[in-house]
Amino acid sequence: MTKERLASCACGKLRVLCSGEPTKVSLCHCLACQKRTGSTFGIAAFFEREQVRIDGATRRFERPSDSGFPVIFHFCPDCGSTVFWEPQRKPDYIAVGVGSFADPDFPAPDQAVYREHRHGWVEAAIKPSDAR
Ligand SMILES: [Zn+2]
Ligand SMILES: [Zn+2]
Repeated sequence: MTKERLASCACGKLRVLCSGEPTKVSLCHCLACQKRTGSTFGIAAFFEREQVRIDGATRRFERPSDSGFPVIFHFCPDCGSTVFWEPQRKPDYIAVGVGSFADPDFPAPDQAVYREHRHGWVEAAIKPSDAR
């Protein structure tokens, strides 16, 4: 049976059901992810669109990215948690915030990007030699 995992916002009204395994899990140290999360890095699991079912209202926040393609973030209008986003550079994929699964057994990241913005005390989850 295909594994299913449920991501949700802090209040639970915005839910994203993901079937199967993510294509990639990416940890991002960039300053925009720091601003978005209030944490010192963001972490995203990329699923193909057909693996994802979204339930609940969202509001959108779009920002440019270094790739030249914007990213559209979707957050819960009631509690403000960003649960998923659409990287326009990869239109076939939905990125889901790994923390939104609240699952310590979620697959570990395959890559870490924007390492130049990593806070000094944050351990490097991915060694440069492991990066794809
Ligand atoms: Zn919410
Ligand atoms: Zn980032």
